[in-house]
Amino acid sequence: MSIDGKATGTQDGTETATVRYRCTACGNLTRFDVVSTRRTRAFHHYSLSGELQIEDTEVLSEDVEDVVCRWCGNGSAVVTATADDPGAGSGPDEPGD
Ligand SMILES: [Zn+2]
Repeated sequence: MSIDGKATGTQDGTETATVRYRCTACGNLTRFDVVSTRRTRAFHHYSLSGELQIEDTEVLSEDVEDVVCRWCGNGSAVVTATADDPGAGSGPDEPGD
């Protein structure tokens, strides 16, 4: 049984700010290859048969090392755009203050 897909994707409890990326070369806002180092704490829940289920993954720290645009493959043209940045294009789904 694979644990893939369960190890990540839990966003509850994460305190990381919403960071968006934008490729200034082609305008891509949605597709990036992100290389990052994450330090996480997770609840490893084993069944009696030894099957592992990872729950409550909390990202303690995350160091993004490289971001490459999937569209044009250009890494140097990718800039970060926070949710507050009007240049990020489509706004976040979360309601403001
Ligand atoms: Zn691009």
